[in-house]
Amino acid sequence: MSAQLIDGIALSRQIRADVAARVQALKERGVTPGLAVILVGDDPASAVYVRNKVKACAETGMHSVLETWPASMSEAQLLARVAALNEDPSIHGILVQLPLPAHMDAHKVIEAISPGKDVDGFHVASAGALMTGLPGFWPCTPYGCMKMLESIHYDLRGKHAVVIGRSNIVGKPMAMMLLQKSATVTICHSATANLKAMTLQADVIVAAVGKRHLLTADMVKPGAVVLDVGMNRDDQGKLCGDVDFASVREVASWITPVPGGVGPMTITMLMANTLDAAERA
Ligand code: NAD
Repeated sequence: MSAQLIDGIALSRQIRADVAARVQALKERGVTPGLAVILVGDDPASAVYVRNKVKACAETGMHSVLETWPASMSEAQLLARVAALNEDPSIHGILVQLPLPAHMDAHKVIEAISPGKDVDGFHVASAGALMTGLPGFWPCTPYGCMKMLESIHYDLRGKHAVVIGRSNIVGKPMAMMLLQKSATVTICHSATANLKAMTLQADVIVAAVGKRHLLTADMVKPGAVVLDVGMNRDDQGKLCGDVDFASVREVASWITPVPGGVGPMTITMLMANTLDAAERA
């Protein structure tokens, strides 16, 4: 059996069309959703990410502001920019692209963003809201994974979900979202003693590690759903995930490809969060 693909490009297109329609409706009521993106330094990967975010804003009819600052910017200057954007009524979402230069405390900067504008969902208020089931912004990558499960009408209730990775931006919030949908959740990480013993029990596996070929077919229960968050390069320099796609697709029932899977969903959910922020404001 070969798994069916969950196509992140097609699903993104659908969700972005819905976002664009809601943006238009909001504009007719006199509000244009606005996203401010701050990039500090000249990391080439970050520059590509922020460009794609700004482009996605234009495509969905949103207003965006891209601020690029040299790596020599001080933390105090950055905090002052965040404070100004917190007060700016034309801006509904603020995103500070990570990583920041080493002389800045990323936690301090994220905590300076008003929780009502924290469209990345990284503020402790957002994390607390997710943890307690209150309304708030969900981190875009795991949120996109949930939309992918929703798109195949997958009922998580009582299912065993194994999340590999425990970062604050993917693994931990992913586990909380799965729990909220009544899955039984196991979080695995770098100190997990026997990863295969865990993944073999899973109905759903989310791989969010950053190591290619981490998940191989012998680690997957037949019929499991496999979501691949990882972004790595193979020997030819081509983008690949954490999952050994060719072998795992022969065992799984559904699988996300890399590229064209979770990746496009991340920016799509950022657009959805920014729209939500504007609608709430
Ligand atoms: P991270 O480095 O913060 O976390 C990696 C996690 O993997 C850690 O919790 C660690 O404990 C765990 N880990 C490491 N080795 C392991 C092993 N051998 N077995 C089990 N667990 C192990 O990374 P992150 O920010 O969570 O990102 C994870 C991956 O997802 C990266 O490849 C990143 O590029 C990718 N990513 C993709 C998107 C997207 O939009 N598709 C967004 C964010 C991150």
